[in-house]
Amino acid sequence: MTKVALLKCRDYDEDLLIRTIKDGLAQIGFDLAQFHKARVGLKPNLLMAANPDKAVATHPSFFKAVAKIVMENGGTPVLTECHGFGSFKSVMNSTGYSEVVKELGMEVGKMDEIAPLHYPQAKLIKRIDISKAFFDVDMILSLPKFKTHGFTYMSGAVKNLFGTIPGLRKARMHLRFPQPMEFSQWLLDLNGALLRGFDKPKKIIHIMDAVIGQEGEGPGPSGTPREIGAIIIGSDPVAVDYVASGVVGLDYKKIPTIMLGFKRDFAVSSPEDISIIGHKVEDMRVINFQPTKSSISSHFLRGWLVSPTVKNIVIEKPWPNEEKCTLCYKCKSVCPAGAISNALENKKIPEYNYKKCIRCYCCIEFCPEAAISLKKGKLQWLLGL
Ligand code: SF4
Ligand code: SF4
Repeated sequence: MTKVALLKCRDYDEDLLIRTIKDGLAQIGFDLAQFHKARVGLKPNLLMAANPDKAVATHPSFFKAVAKIVMENGGTPVLTECHGFGSFKSVMNSTGYSEVVKELGMEVGKMDEIAPLHYPQAKLIKRIDISKAFFDVDMILSLPKFKTHGFTYMSGAVKNLFGTIPGLRKARMHLRFPQPMEFSQWLLDLNGALLRGFDKPKKIIHIMDAVIGQEGEGPGPSGTPREIGAIIIGSDPVAVDYVASGVVGLDYKKIPTIMLGFKRDFAVSSPEDISIIGHKVEDMRVINFQPTKSSISSHFLRGWLVSPTVKNIVIEKPWPNEEKCTLCYKCKSVCPAGAISNALENKKIPEYNYKKCIRCYCCIEFCPEAAISLKKGKLQWLLGL
């Protein structure tokens, strides 16, 4: 049985966070003495520049609480995160991380240099290049933010480790694996590589910030902050995500990283293998949690629906809103498929080429104005899907 600690935490009060996280670590059998003299990589979700109230990034107080626990126990916390988009400085400033790092005198990992992890049991790629900074720490504390996700349905522990890959290499992976099932399988390869690929295996603990998460069209500014009131801790990313999906009432069978994760040799193979400690999922359940509107069909059928015409009638397309768009072209710069061009004359929105679009929804994720929504395909309207 794999232990997952499910803890109640209603706000970002520092003392409360420290107490709750320590409690959770003890419940899963993690001895804080393991931090002694260790360099500990703290890997939050710093998707982009956004105020902490938007619930886009792992909350800075959450990050600070974990860093303090490591320091109190004789370890050296190192911020290790390949952020998603924008200058690292602006991401650090707007998310509140600059202040934390300065106050604690924390080291920030240099993330650009890469080094290979080899994972022969991988399903798709047996060599994955990650930031070398993760090689330079003794253990990793992954601090995912619980959010909905238009492409993978949910962003949690499995998805958070995508941020071990530097900059544009992330976009390349979207292009290489444009279907959610394949992409999720590759994310699991990455999780497996991080567990099994280092010469000397590193302990990875997932401490999920689900105090305030996101519902609706997450994981960027288009998502809606939602109080969940939970911290979820475990060493198995699939088990942690399964528990998180249960708390908000998402059907885990719709989440490819969980369903495919149950078949991987480094993770639990079914819900029955998970021992939930602390609180019961039913006691923590969030009522009327809103999933992404991105349809189930787009997650499970689109592997076969590669024709542009079919794609355009059965899968939601990203649709910019003239009233909100400022023509900043961040969407254009993050689009891995090169499907977005400058606005045509007299138009107030960028030009989208839906034949090229692979429906990764990175443009929605990174649009700072939350100006892009999902538009159903014609057949979806007709069938009421
Ligand atoms: S849709 Fe969003 S990201 Fe794209 S140009 Fe408009 S405001 Fe910028
Ligand atoms: S247009 Fe948006 S959804 Fe389509 S490929 Fe580009 S970033 Fe992804």
